[in-house]
Amino acid sequence: MSTQSDIPTTVCVLTPPGEGGIAVIEVRGPRAVEIVDAFFHSPRGLRIAEAPPGKLLYGNLVRDGETLDEVVVARVAQGQQGVLEINCHGGAVASSRVVDALVSAGARMTTAAERLDLMRKSGTLDAIAAEAAARIPRAPTLLAATVLLDQFRGALGRGVRDIAKRAKALANPCGGSAEHPLALQEGGTPMTMPAGSPDSPVTEIAEELESLLATARYGRGLIEPCRVVVTGRPNVGKSTLSNALLRFERMIVHTVPGTTRDTVEDLFSVVGVPFVLVDTAGIRDARDEIEREGVARARAAALEADVTVMVLDGSESLTEEDRALLREPAARPRVIALNKWDLPLRADMNEIPEQTRELLVRVAARTGKGIEELERRILDAAYPTRPEPGTAVIFTVRQQECLTEALAAARADDAEGVSRALDSLLHASD
Ligand code: GDP
Repeated sequence: MSTQSDIPTTVCVLTPPGEGGIAVIEVRGPRAVEIVDAFFHSPRGLRIAEAPPGKLLYGNLVRDGETLDEVVVARVAQGQQGVLEINCHGGAVASSRVVDALVSAGARMTTAAERLDLMRKSGTLDAIAAEAAARIPRAPTLLAATVLLDQFRGALGRGVRDIAKRAKALANPCGGSAEHPLALQEGGTPMTMPAGSPDSPVTEIAEELESLLATARYGRGLIEPCRVVVTGRPNVGKSTLSNALLRFERMIVHTVPGTTRDTVEDLFSVVGVPFVLVDTAGIRDARDEIEREGVARARAAALEADVTVMVLDGSESLTEEDRALLREPAARPRVIALNKWDLPLRADMNEIPEQTRELLVRVAARTGKGIEELERRILDAAYPTRPEPGTAVIFTVRQQECLTEALAAARADDAEGVSRALDSLLHASD
């Protein structure tokens, strides 16, 4: 349990470094108000200590008679965790003069990551909220940021705490009896409930943990997007289709340099869910004997993919290469785009294996016709179910591992193990 004297007063520049109109500096901790008040001069003689939370105060920060900067100070919270935000002029010089003064008065300079870590250790944030806060600035789309904000505000934390509380009660009912608290017969005689029985409260917990775990693919995909690879024989329209998927996206999402061999990766999003389109130019152009063959190329491409989009040219009869690609067992969820919809259909649909026909979507990459439907199919292939807005979503490997451990314990009817795993989910750091 931390006491007031353990808690440092920290100063952290919240705005990114570089040129800018304003910088926002946070001062947080038991001495925040005292330290800032030591430098703050308001034209109306106002003291920060007398301002209620939410109040904005205009003034100057003055050190040894020298004005450091003109500022607006917002009192965000009071009490043991006093939090102030100082808005001063941006750029390295103005903000560092303010930070130096605060540090000289006893505040400790922290990075954004250290700030979150301290907030977690002081109990201001649980580990999940800290993980969300660390990821919000890097969210690739507005939806990703919104889902992370939901988790920052406690959507996942509340769910986990509720299960942890029940697991703890089951592990230690009425301060020590080993029976389930619900397993009391009339008259209070404990009855035994077989482990894993459908009515067992631990079974109920296991089901809840399973549905939380089912959100991990989606939540992790919002931060590290699913990789989409476009495959097919030459000239079917792969490049044109890739450009169509990215067409409006370049303006609103950024390009990340490829992390894999000879590939360029671009982000696109479908109703806010981000995807990485992996341009496998390197794979396609490989001069390697094996990779020149279509099926081998598709296999190599599929290794890079979470979802594959296989392109066929609908304006021509299918070729042997198309048929071979269609016969390939799908290693990943896939969508089949029958391209060149603007031209008469010459491909024989009967040549498309029946079990893959439902994956087929007609598009004209050149005109954009059918691209929205293709995007929807990609979204459904990647995430057959998606959590509702505002609900609990798992978004880190650490969370997934802790919940997997909790689920294993629940399946073994080990309420104590569930409680331990969930405690570490809430309190450890990633
Ligand atoms: P890739 O080799 O599979 O990447 O194919 P490209 O994207 O380079 O396209 C091959 C040719 O097909 C080009 O001349 C494209 O303009 C054309 N093409 C691509 N998509 C369409 C389409 O939807 N309709 C028509 N009519 N032509 C298309």
